[in-house]
Amino acid sequence: MQKLSRRLLRRRLLVALDYDGTLAPQPRRGNDPKLPERAKRLLARLARHVHCVVISGRAFIDLKRRLSGLELDAVVGNHGCDDGQVRWRLMRQVAGWKATLLPVVRSQPGVRLEDKRYSLSILLSTARHPARARRAVERAAAQLEGAAIFGGRQVVNVVSARAPHKGDAVSRLRWRTKATTALYVGDDVGDEDVFRLGKQGWLTGVKVGRGGRSAARYRVRSQRQVVTLLAALVEAAEAKARR
Ligand SMILES: [Mg+2]
Repeated sequence: MQKLSRRLLRRRLLVALDYDGTLAPQPRRGNDPKLPERAKRLLARLARHVHCVVISGRAFIDLKRRLSGLELDAVVGNHGCDDGQVRWRLMRQVAGWKATLLPVVRSQPGVRLEDKRYSLSILLSTARHPARARRAVERAAAQLEGAAIFGGRQVVNVVSARAPHKGDAVSRLRWRTKATTALYVGDDVGDEDVFRLGKQGWLTGVKVGRGGRSAARYRVRSQRQVVTLLAALVEAAEAKARR
């Protein structure tokens, strides 16, 4: 990690991070972990030296509140399309999808629908029959006009097929910050859109967790190791500033 950090710091660096399961522990049934204090302190120190952004599937307002007190270059929610601006058309479209999906969700015991305004999450973590519920929800969501669906850990995400994804958000932020290299850390299916940018040469992907296939170049075992990676980046950035 030290070597990777020093190498990245030689260029103008953008550090982009997913939130759940990456910066903060993955939420489990009934608990909703906060951003660990150590991760928060390290991110604050890192942001003094390099461009730092957080990109998550959560709604912008939710994410912004969780990261309050941090001075980041950007916070982007809803899988890459929510930067806090109001998008009426998309909002209306998502409201229509919600009306169609609600009866399906209610027919599956324990399944919940989270309305994030610009996308929907159908949460399966408390489902009585998770596999059956996933099939029913995916079948219904596939019929929605203009929607794209992708799975995740105990969730089905319904997003606009035309809205920017996380990869688009990172590309745009790299351009905006004039960074010449970027590091992206994420743990789930939606993060693969970012990892695939690795082919272009300017992005280094780090996948959190051992499971599943990934286009990321590197892996760390757990969310705790993301904190260790942040510490290595802070050390390299502060050493560079002292020189
Ligand atoms: Mg995640």
